[in-house]
Amino acid sequence: MSTYSGKLLRINLSDTTSNEEEIPTQFYKSFISARGLGAKYLYDELSPNIDPLSPDNKLLLLIGVLGGTGLQGFSKWTVMSKSPLTGTIFRSVTGGNFGVWMKHAGYDLIIIEGQAAKPSYVHIDAQGVHFLEAKDLLGLDYRRLQERLKETHGARTESACIGIAGENLVRYAVIHSGERTASRGGMGTVMGSKNLKAISINVPIKKPAPFDPATFKGLIKTQVNILKEHPRKQTMNTLGTPYITKIVNMMGILPTKNYQEGSIPTIEDLSGDKFFELKKGRAGCYACMTRCGGMRDVTLGPFGGSQIDGPEYETIFAFGPLLVRDRCQRPVRRIRYRYDQHRRVHRLCLRIVRQGHNFIGRYGRFKTHLGQQGSNFFFD
Ligand code: SF4
Repeated sequence: MSTYSGKLLRINLSDTTSNEEEIPTQFYKSFISARGLGAKYLYDELSPNIDPLSPDNKLLLLIGVLGGTGLQGFSKWTVMSKSPLTGTIFRSVTGGNFGVWMKHAGYDLIIIEGQAAKPSYVHIDAQGVHFLEAKDLLGLDYRRLQERLKETHGARTESACIGIAGENLVRYAVIHSGERTASRGGMGTVMGSKNLKAISINVPIKKPAPFDPATFKGLIKTQVNILKEHPRKQTMNTLGTPYITKIVNMMGILPTKNYQEGSIPTIEDLSGDKFFELKKGRAGCYACMTRCGGMRDVTLGPFGGSQIDGPEYETIFAFGPLLVRDRCQRPVRRIRYRYDQHRRVHRLCLRIVRQGHNFIGRYGRFKTHLGQQGSNFFFD
């Protein structure tokens, strides 16, 4: 008995086939948990010099040894691939429920290969793996997409999916699971390049069985009791990661003015307490009593009336003091602004490239669907 499932699912989008494979026990011993296992498979299976956005690249979804066991905080799962941002092997970690559902389905690893001929999504249920058309799902953002998948496949459906940025191959597009994202390295871009809008799972719950279930259950109980009383858990539960801003500001290491400075005098306006005033609900991951996420309304500006989960500490400094902005509504609004701006700029670039011109700007390097045929362009 083990908390590993011992199996991987290989999905080929080019020929719409799938098959299960045993993962050699030696791999688990030599390559620790999700990240190690992913690196091993990518090292063995990817040819050097492949284009990250070509069908040759592979997208790996993995969950580690303790994932889905009920141990607090072990909902985390990992996405690995060759990154279109760095050109290197990359891993991006996220929460939500999808990773645990993978384990319920009996897989430690899902390998996605090839490229679908048309926009598609993959659904896994007790009957097997289904390749489905995603024409009607195109243009949906992650929240509406996940709702639609639940309506179609049942309320217990969990998915890993891309939004509009992923569809349009924005280089740093993310993969969503619930309100959580695998944000780094453009893993959503790789998914978009495969014409894969989502992979969803709805299977009966099949919890991994530890070697000694009674002892394991006792350990979980101890962990829960410690966490119940722990002050850090209370703070994270109430304020979430925004509580960190004041601490790092006090230490003089708050990234400020493009790292030229390390603190701001108006830190109270970006404190956890200030963001708590905007909090409208909680968000969290599977089997985590901390539930550090916070839903917030955007109350001002052109995006007033919408809602986001966050911002987290990293977003606050990156869209706040780093850009010399010091009010808590500004990072919230700016996220929505950047999102909308990228969509508009991307549509403009597509038009320019379709007219046969190159477009070169200062900051980012983007590749369009046309780019897959060899037309790179740059954008500001
Ligand atoms: S809710 Fe927060 S603390 Fe809990 S697993 Fe998710 S990210 Fe981590």
